[in-house]
Amino acid sequence: MRYLNWLATAFLWAFAIGAAAAPPAGAAPGAVRVVRAAMLIDGVSATPLNNPEVLIRGNRIEAVYPAGTRPLPEGAELIDLRGLTLLPGLIDTHTHIFLQGEDPAEGGYDVQLLKYPASYRAARAIVAARRALEQGFTTIRDLETEGAGYGDVGIKMAIEQGIVPGPRMFVVTRAISTTGGYPLEGYAPEISVPKGAQLIDGPVEARKAAREQLDHGADWIKVYMTHRSWLDAQGNLVSQPTLTVEELKAVVDEAHGWQRKVACHAYNGIGLQRALDGGCDSIEHGLEITDAQIAQMVRQGTWYVPTLAVYYGDWDPPDTPAGQRDRKRVATHGVAFAKALKAGVKIAFGTDVGGFKWSEPIAQEFPYLVQFGMTPMQAIQAATSRAADLLGRRGQLGVVAPGAYADLMAVAGDPLSDVKVLGDVGFVMKDGVVFRAAQ
Ligand SMILES: [Zn+2]
Repeated sequence: MRYLNWLATAFLWAFAIGAAAAPPAGAAPGAVRVVRAAMLIDGVSATPLNNPEVLIRGNRIEAVYPAGTRPLPEGAELIDLRGLTLLPGLIDTHTHIFLQGEDPAEGGYDVQLLKYPASYRAARAIVAARRALEQGFTTIRDLETEGAGYGDVGIKMAIEQGIVPGPRMFVVTRAISTTGGYPLEGYAPEISVPKGAQLIDGPVEARKAAREQLDHGADWIKVYMTHRSWLDAQGNLVSQPTLTVEELKAVVDEAHGWQRKVACHAYNGIGLQRALDGGCDSIEHGLEITDAQIAQMVRQGTWYVPTLAVYYGDWDPPDTPAGQRDRKRVATHGVAFAKALKAGVKIAFGTDVGGFKWSEPIAQEFPYLVQFGMTPMQAIQAATSRAADLLGRRGQLGVVAPGAYADLMAVAGDPLSDVKVLGDVGFVMKDGVVFRAAQ
């Protein structure tokens, strides 16, 4: 009897534990689906495929072929997208789910850290993650939590377990800068205020911060290599450098030892040069890059994530120093992007969404990429196979091909003749599960 009681208790415990830990979010392993569309842009091929069918088993793509060349497998579900153009799920390699556009009228950046409970910020971050998926972005590299600690690790976990919907996440946790290198700023020196990043001084502290972040789940390390920016007397853009080469090298050495990579926020000048000399894997923003720096990026295989569109919003008035700086930023940015593209620098799609409101379309970046010299196909590949390369997931993400994850999105119209239609999303599948069905 006692044994039976024990057995019953053990069974109940096992059941309770099983119920508490949610199953993985992907499609059931045996499920077979065929997605049919008007056109396929597969993320890698130079030309689209007309009338494609994509055979999906569980959460993986098994085959891609023209419609009518194979019978529908027995028991397969047909998902007919009719007139839509099918693409790989898009990848945004620069997002901030813990930022909300920082409207000054709503308290700007500081209120996020000073007045909002972590739970409130997490709730908004969960909505932001869902917003990305709704827009066909099935993968994001989220580039720091802005004072919300390791909140990104928990949200990634909840998405992976199917508790909340969202994209695949590559997370960096807290990010690293130096004393004087990140907000909150402008408070009385007598009081301590929280900072939006982990501040370090010296290679020992730099390495320790990287180790802590990697230990707590960082997939990448994010470093701020420049901070404030302004115009000098000659009207040139200047940005304040933060970490020294020695400090950055300690971070890069540690991250690379863990086989992780380092993303560096860098506008221009000394800070950007230190980012390259210290071995950064991706340059974020790169508002002004000299010819020599472009050559160094090509030589070192450094990625460039330009985030063009975000700099076109929220300009200060033209007759103010900040307003003049805002206009100079976009003037130099377009030039840097065009030169880097021409020189063959590896470019991945990133938007800095969160820096602008999540209610704005993420796809607003595409027309800027085309305006400054990419073909629509190059812009799409920057957001698919190229971004997957940056993330070390070539062949797995950002491509519609056998063996890849069944991450798909579809849009009305032909994005090769107008990239703006990438914002008109009609279907989203992630990991073999339909998140947004075609109407
Ligand atoms: Zn950013």
